[in-house]
Amino acid sequence: MRTRFRGITVREGVLLRGSGDSGGHGWGEWSPFLEYDAAVAEPWLRCAEEAAAGDWPAPVRDSVPVNVTVPAVGAEQAHAVVARGGCRTAKVKVAEPGQTLADDQARLEAVRDAIGPDGRVRIDVNGLWDVDTAVASIAVLDRAAGGLEYVEQPVATVEDLARVRRAVDVPIAADESIRRADDPYRVRDLDAADVAVLKVQPLGGVRACLRIAEDIGLPVVVSSALETSVGIAAGVALAAALPELPYACGLATVQLLSHDLAAEPLLPVDGELPVRTPVVDESLLTTYAAAPDRVAHWEARLAEVLALRDDRVRQDRRS
Ligand SMILES: [Mg+2]
Repeated sequence: MRTRFRGITVREGVLLRGSGDSGGHGWGEWSPFLEYDAAVAEPWLRCAEEAAAGDWPAPVRDSVPVNVTVPAVGAEQAHAVVARGGCRTAKVKVAEPGQTLADDQARLEAVRDAIGPDGRVRIDVNGLWDVDTAVASIAVLDRAAGGLEYVEQPVATVEDLARVRRAVDVPIAADESIRRADDPYRVRDLDAADVAVLKVQPLGGVRACLRIAEDIGLPVVVSSALETSVGIAAGVALAAALPELPYACGLATVQLLSHDLAAEPLLPVDGELPVRTPVVDESLLTTYAAAPDRVAHWEARLAEVLALRDDRVRQDRRS
């Protein structure tokens, strides 16, 4: 990582290459975060396998709008990040521990100034407010931003999301509340959000996410899990295949990594990512290969996930 993000400084993962037996010669990225157990990491592997098999649905658009992300920095720096980003949508981090609502206000005023009256501004709270704080703060920050597109995960639980949603006019997006395959249905059933943030790896791949999007009937924002261009391409494939894409996606994250594995990384041009499959540069695979002890760690992890699948198959046969 260029800077610490989500508490990590090094991003590790596995690339799978399709054997070509079923027609697929693609590359897939399997990069579950290190603290995840085999059960959580299993759908992440399905996403990589789908990519390696070249089994993505046909795109209905040839580029995907993306947002620039503004960290919890001062107003001047926030202004510069948005001006440099070249995107028409900004996602602004707020509620940083140790900062005040006035800090968030100043940051949002600067972002609005930089993005202009037609730009869209959303905030991401990462679940850090309680319900009362959320209701009061959203009103203040909606004014400071000159209108918010939506608020991402203002509170931690789905029940509280529903409470906040009933109390404010600004749309609510669920992000951390959607991590496993049944989560989106809970968000829908409790009327907890107006927008669903979906990530292809945790939810089992592009086709699985398309099904979820269709089932829940909420607009979808596709977001990354800090992948290389290989993994980002799966998110782009989902965003490209969705029948409707009313919001910019959170897929402009390759620049958070100090290195990438594609000859031409999936970076935004004029606020959009092109819909294309990046070509892996095999010399970069050698350059950034993990140390032998880390390779052993990932081999063991993969074996654990495959063993878990075998157990499930055996259980299904028995029942
Ligand atoms: Mg978020």
